[in-house]
Amino acid sequence: MHDIATAIRELKEELPSNVKLVAVSKFHPAEAVMEAYNAGQRVFGESRPQELAAKAAVLPGDISWHFIGHLQTNKLKLVLPVASMVESVDSLHLLTAIDRWGKENGKVTDVLLEMHIASEDTKQGFSREEILSLVPRAQDYPNVRISGLMGMATFTDDETVIRRDFAALVALRDEIRTGIGDYPGLPAGFGILSFGMTHDYRIAVEMGADIVRIGTLIFGERAY
Ligand SMILES: *Cc1c(COP(=O)(O)O)cnc(C)c1O
Repeated sequence: MHDIATAIRELKEELPSNVKLVAVSKFHPAEAVMEAYNAGQRVFGESRPQELAAKAAVLPGDISWHFIGHLQTNKLKLVLPVASMVESVDSLHLLTAIDRWGKENGKVTDVLLEMHIASEDTKQGFSREEILSLVPRAQDYPNVRISGLMGMATFTDDETVIRRDFAALVALRDEIRTGIGDYPGLPAGFGILSFGMTHDYRIAVEMGADIVRIGTLIFGERAY
């Protein structure tokens, strides 16, 4: 039996206090979320709209939900009312739709732009160039707060590759921060970086991640 509470406690001890832990509960039942909740965890990550909506409806209201999966615009109404952050904004189309939903529903949504840093083509995200051409127009999306960047490294045990991928994310964040005066639509605190999962979170913390998203280490293997 996987001990969720122990995993949460050990992670809290290990992670520096300025690093936010998102406990990725996708494919695990609400009871598993409650075990982590009772161990003190309040921030959870979900990657499927229906699953997020179902869990948010039955779980405590002080949970902060981060949406971390690919989001189709016809699913916004399941996600945006309950999510405190959408970490996985991977297209202009989606950004535009979140902004429009926010205007209609009176909510400004905190988002991260997902950057494609991995070697695999299967992973989503903007290129560096796309993000650099988007941020000067951030004020066109007043119902979205672009707070930072998110990324997923190549799935490999090769630390050199993982570090190279993460470094691209850090470098782009630093570059945007340096030119922040040119981007009046970005919030003053722009620059939150979300990177690092079960197999690479220690590298991520060392390289300056502000958010790590950890699932398997906390909840055990997922049943797909
Ligand atoms: C599933 C997922 C995670 C967590 O992965 P683990 O390897 O189980 O820690 C983190 N980020 C994203 C975007 C995910 O989809």
